[in-house]
Amino acid sequence: MAMMPGATNRLLANQARQGLMKSYDAAVLHTMVGSLAGTDSMFQEGGTVGTESHFGIGEHGEIYQWVDTKYTADANYLGSGHVISIETADYGGSFGRWNTAGDNVPYWNAAQITAIVKILIWVHETHGIPLTATKSVTEKGVGYHAQGVPGNELPNSLRGTKYQWSKYAGKVCPGKKRISQIPEIVRLAQGGATSSGSSPTPKKEGILGMTKYSGGKIYRAVQNLVKNKWRSLYVGKGSMSILTCDGSPYLAQVYLTVTGLKPDETIQVRFITASYKSGTTTKNNGYYAKQEQHGSAGGTYISHTQIGKTGKGKNGRSNRLRVQVWTDSKTAKITSIQTKFMKG
Ligand SMILES: [Zn+2]
Repeated sequence: MAMMPGATNRLLANQARQGLMKSYDAAVLHTMVGSLAGTDSMFQEGGTVGTESHFGIGEHGEIYQWVDTKYTADANYLGSGHVISIETADYGGSFGRWNTAGDNVPYWNAAQITAIVKILIWVHETHGIPLTATKSVTEKGVGYHAQGVPGNELPNSLRGTKYQWSKYAGKVCPGKKRISQIPEIVRLAQGGATSSGSSPTPKKEGILGMTKYSGGKIYRAVQNLVKNKWRSLYVGKGSMSILTCDGSPYLAQVYLTVTGLKPDETIQVRFITASYKSGTTTKNNGYYAKQEQHGSAGGTYISHTQIGKTGKGKNGRSNRLRVQVWTDSKTAKITSIQTKFMKG
């Protein structure tokens, strides 16, 4: 038996009809295009007949274990006997309803990132999967589905081998936004591990070691936006700083309420770091990846998450984490902003 402590036991019927794992080469991240409840009922219906994954992560970071990790799960086609598969929720609830044709999967939120980190540490300690973000399907470590998909990242020469992770060409799973989060998630997992294996020496940092938490400061002031211009937002009265950077890792989240954004208009959100010193001009010195969203009737709600690590400022200046928005709308306004962070 290999069951992860803390995971909810949702083992599918007839586990043993799955073959035993042949090796533990990688932990592979997937996206559901659905919710945890929907995916669970689909998997439970057929038991282990059909496709299934070892783990599932919900919108709020719930972890389901569907298959004992001594057995294979079928989510990775010819690679299923060699990788641990992790499905993640991405649709409905706080993710909203997005256009599933194309590469529009939203970012993993903070609760999901924490859950992924826990699973990665467990599979590392239990099965020796390295805590390294892989650059290609043949490396051992933490990968993602599209690496083994024909017509996507799978080299043609590897078709028909254990590296072919999908029967179908062109799958983008888990989407470019989630793929961009993987290196940071792996770094956080490195910090939370208690044994090293073949990975870098663990340091006491990362999500599991984060001790400082600021939960949900809400600022309700109307903030006008300027068309086609990035603007830093106030997150409190007279203050744009979410946190002061000191070289330790952080995970920050922002929730925005936007009015006046029409369905054919766009808003983009990103975190930045700014170098601040009282009495001098503030300089923006680092930009994180932006998230884009379209307007919707009756108000637009945006959730954006970032993990990062920024050093202390020098020469009396300090580095501050801020949030910026851009829009092509003339009428969009921010009516509330909530920020949360973990740091440690
Ligand atoms: Zn997938």
